Amino acid sequence: MINCLKADEACHMTSDDVLHLMRSDIQHGLSHNDAAVRQRIHGLNDFEINEDEPLWKKYLSQFKDPLIMLLLGSAIVSLFMRQFDDAISITVAIIIVVTVAFVQEYRSEKSLEALTKLVPPKCHCLRNGKYETFLARELVPGDIVSLSTGDRVPADIRIFEAFDLAIDESSFTGETEPARKLTESLRGEKAFNVTDMQNIAFMGTLVRCGNGKGVVIGTGDNSEFGEIFRIMKAEEPPKTPLQKSMSLLGKQLSAYSFIVIGLIMVTGWIQGRKLLKMFNIGVSLAVAAIPEGLPIVVTVTLAIGVMRMAKKKAIVKKLPIVETLGCVNVICSDKTGTLTKNEMTVTRIVSSDGDEAEATGLGYSGTGQVVCRGETVNPENHPSLVKIVEIGVICNNAQIVDGELHGQPTEGAILAAAVKMDMYSIRNQYIRLQEWPFNSDTKMMTVKAAVRGNEDAQTYFVKGAVERILQHCTKFNERGVLRPLTNQQYNLFVSQAKNMGRSGLRVLATAYGSSMSDLAFVGLIGMIDPPREGVKEAITILQETGVEIKMLTGDSEETAVSIANRLGLKSRRTLSGEEVDSLSFEALTASLIESTVLYRVSPRHKHVIIKALQSTGQIVGMTGDGVNDAVALKSADIGIAMGRSGTDVSKEAADVILVDDNLRTMEAAMEEGKAIFHNIRNFVRFQLSTSIAALTLITISTFANLPNPLNAMQILWINIIMDGPPAQSLGVEPVDDDTIKQPPRKATESIITRPLMTNVLLSATIIVSGTLWVFWREMADNKITPRDTTMTFTCFVLFDMFNALSCRSQKKSILQLGFTTNRTFLLAVGGSLLGQLLVVYFPPLQRTFQTEALYITDFIFLITLTSSVFIVSEVKKWFERVYSVKRDRFERIPSDYV
Ligand code: ATP
Repeated sequence: MINCLKADEACHMTSDDVLHLMRSDIQHGLSHNDAAVRQRIHGLNDFEINEDEPLWKKYLSQFKDPLIMLLLGSAIVSLFMRQFDDAISITVAIIIVVTVAFVQEYRSEKSLEALTKLVPPKCHCLRNGKYETFLARELVPGDIVSLSTGDRVPADIRIFEAFDLAIDESSFTGETEPARKLTESLRGEKAFNVTDMQNIAFMGTLVRCGNGKGVVIGTGDNSEFGEIFRIMKAEEPPKTPLQKSMSLLGKQLSAYSFIVIGLIMVTGWIQGRKLLKMFNIGVSLAVAAIPEGLPIVVTVTLAIGVMRMAKKKAIVKKLPIVETLGCVNVICSDKTGTLTKNEMTVTRIVSSDGDEAEATGLGYSGTGQVVCRGETVNPENHPSLVKIVEIGVICNNAQIVDGELHGQPTEGAILAAAVKMDMYSIRNQYIRLQEWPFNSDTKMMTVKAAVRGNEDAQTYFVKGAVERILQHCTKFNERGVLRPLTNQQYNLFVSQAKNMGRSGLRVLATAYGSSMSDLAFVGLIGMIDPPREGVKEAITILQETGVEIKMLTGDSEETAVSIANRLGLKSRRTLSGEEVDSLSFEALTASLIESTVLYRVSPRHKHVIIKALQSTGQIVGMTGDGVNDAVALKSADIGIAMGRSGTDVSKEAADVILVDDNLRTMEAAMEEGKAIFHNIRNFVRFQLSTSIAALTLITISTFANLPNPLNAMQILWINIIMDGPPAQSLGVEPVDDDTIKQPPRKATESIITRPLMTNVLLSATIIVSGTLWVFWREMADNKITPRDTTMTFTCFVLFDMFNALSCRSQKKSILQLGFTTNRTFLLAVGGSLLGQLLVVYFPPLQRTFQTEALYITDFIFLITLTSSVFIVSEVKKWFERVYSVKRDRFERIPSDYV
């Protein structure tokens, strides 16, 4: 059997010994069969959180709630006083209340758990002689893994190959500087520190630069930090501001309710009512009036919202982000890949001696032609054009295999052009001696290479942004002769590049030479990258709702502006990365207000841009995909990473991951964010009005020295409706057009606003008046009978159902919303009504709730009466709509006319 190796042992062994011990093969890796066997022994490379408590224990812990204990106490007292009916009724009611609370809490826990599984880490692993990408949880000890910049280390790995490899271990060591990694075994005494073990890459750390390979020595629980991971995973996620404010609201309401309930009980006692009855009513009222379910309903609604967003391809990593989504008023978006497809195709090649070729055919299959003045380009007829592509191919890390691109699209596009010119294999004629990879700061890539067989003649091949390349050029190519680069020529090349940019092309310049300070400029390559479908529409929607979009790109001004125009992004001015560097913070903040297009920007500028925008009170969403974007993603209010093209580092730092890299997905997520907040408001309104109505009803009847209109069990039943399915179903109301069109919410805005409270009080007043009236009517005979309370109770419940219906929207009428658009709501209300019918007609429940069968005419009467709460709310909404349309019109009239 293969055992896992401890990191402090493996670091002292040679990599060959480790490979031998793990029975692994550096060339072929493990076979799939072997991996499957090892997985059976070692399990998945994951941390399963054991269900710490069995379900029955969790269920029983619900009874620990002091209020429930009080109720249980009163059931026991009833038992001793031989009031068996009361004892049974209270017990049944308690069981129902506790079960509903338990199911709610369980659901919320499960949905939170599901969130953590939304972004499973991946790995690149050698199996059966081929590198494959699969889920990191499938890794087993002995697997050969390749690591490159931006990756998350998928298991504990003994490194046997490292090029410039540096790993960020700050999550374990606190050390912010990335640790350099080597392959040699450690000598001397035993290494104790993570920092000492330079040949080990630890699970969960992040590759900051370079690349390397290694063999897995420990997975899952057997990894060095398995224990820490388990603790981290088991830890409860921090509460969102909304959850916190809901808990606070719950506590405040509890305090008020307790005071009122105390007063009710004391008054009842002074009036000489039965103490036990008053106690039961008091405690039930406490259970009912205190919206203890509020924070749970909020959590479930947020979690369900997150799952809904995941279905739309936006992964929100933390619950609090959902709240911020509706507040974002600026989104800074990368251009390539997010606004455009990142599917590059070379369409124009312009040589330094004035030849211009057009390329046809899309994609990387190589179908199409490169044509200059009607003839297909070849080395004989257009050597300068051929030289441009030759440099592009040599200074290139991509590959096209069976029409499929492996590597960057920019480089792939050049290779595809080379295939069309039958030049793909020209790379094989050279030996690469050194490479200076492309990065977004230098905006160029250099390769030093020599022709095979003539290794002494070394040449630099360079491609990159025009102005950067020209900085290194002293000459230019004219029909095979290298001439000095005059200012006039320099300006000509720059203006050619600008012209290409203006037509939306991404432009790369190429040059070569024997020294980097003495290059010869050869020409320009222009490639198209079409805008993504749906992005223009998404931008229009976002702009209409008051969200500003800023395009950030490493590309040139002309290209950026051209694409921006195509996407409907109007800019009063543009801002370059250089300007961002040179402007003072105040000047930058002022310029940013007017600028929509920021060009030649690199990741390091993003952080300053965010800070400047945030200083004016904006809530900023920022996209990013590279390792260097991590800081910006963290400092933005919402960091947005790219699921497909993004590095693990950026995904780790981000709050939202767009699975399809598309800005449109972000727009959909923001809509959901707004809808969730809106829905939370709706059920808060529902819960508050029910709670206030129940309290007021009992308070008034007690002070008016009337008998109790509802008994304890009935109050508890109302609590189930209030905290249970109908409230929850208001949380899943589908996204409504009007909500989406609302401008971003102020981050400081509270859930409980003045209009919301007006609605709550209005509904509560109608419910209380109507219910009291029914009670008074039934009491005409001056005797309190089960029929009287059944009528009052049913009246309250029906009022509540109609109230729930009007709570579905703050502004829209039910006709505009559509009666059947929220199926969950229909089911919840239908279920509650069915429950009410059972309570009224089903003998065992009649006994529990002390009810009596009602006539159909009673129901007709009650439905007519209770619909008033709905009708009043609809009329109010109608007035508000008409008034707001008029106000809008009024506001649009120019001030001269007013
Ligand atoms: P963003 O993704 O932020 O919208 P971008 O992808 O357009 O920006 P960069 O990738 O930073 O921007 O590219 C900036 C410029 O660098 C390009 O206009 C191009 O001239 C040059 N460039 C891009 N990729 C390469 C490459 N692989 N090799 C050499 N030069 C490149």
